[in-house]
Amino acid sequence: MGRRRRRVIKVVKKALPKVYSCPQCGTISIKISVKKENIAKIACGNCGLSYEYELNTNKAPIDIYNDFVDKFLSGRLNLNDGKD
Ligand SMILES: [Zn+2]
Repeated sequence: MGRRRRRVIKVVKKALPKVYSCPQCGTISIKISVKKENIAKIACGNCGLSYEYELNTNKAPIDIYNDFVDKFLSGRLNLNDGKD
């Protein structure tokens, strides 16, 4: 039984989640789409939270999302709520 076995390495492609949880309403309804080369739009399908994100580099959606949540939680987002 001198048969050599080739080791088969399976490459599992992990699909990135396409939706993210919303920092405002808590549902998994955030979608990130790239509108132009340097503008990504983040929008929640549940509560309507939306934000346009300017890309400086080729960021992955998860990075954009993390940045967005970070900004949201620290109150640095200028959302179009209008005046107070
Ligand atoms: Zn929401």
